Amino acid sequence: MAKVLVSACLLGAKVRYDGRDNLLDHPVLKRWHQQGRLVAACPETLGGLPTPRAPAEIQTRFPILITTDADEDVTPEFLSGAEQALDLAHQHDCCCALMKARSPSCGNQEIYDGSFSGTLTTAPGVAADELLRNGIPVFNEHQLGELIDFVEQQGAAA
Ligand code: SF4
Repeated sequence: MAKVLVSACLLGAKVRYDGRDNLLDHPVLKRWHQQGRLVAACPETLGGLPTPRAPAEIQTRFPILITTDADEDVTPEFLSGAEQALDLAHQHDCCCALMKARSPSCGNQEIYDGSFSGTLTTAPGVAADELLRNGIPVFNEHQLGELIDFVEQQGAAA
């Protein structure tokens, strides 16, 4: 049975930087949850950051630098969380991931540009990047149709 790594906040865990969740209420997700197909992961809390926490953005990629809006370096926590998310995906043999859009960890296509001004740039977050570089497709909550098609194809092949 194909499993999916999911951003914990999309499943209702109150792990966002502001202590809230991003619950995604969808019947297919509910069914997959009941079937034990969902593996929740919050890379930032896995990496040791508290909730609530200061917002953070990626400043540079080479070398990687992630700071909070108070200029605190949280790069080690983000990198550790990304590695742990990948480990979880491997442990559970996840075929793909459903990750929160625009998060500096979970965003798969675009993230904020490091200026804390609400400006987006085309790039993945740290954990999504780790998954993608290891061959695990990452979808966001606006790509549920594509995700469902992909998972059902994997299930049919299993
Ligand atoms: Fe949600 Fe990912 Fe941010 Fe955790 S790191 S709160 S799972 S978007």
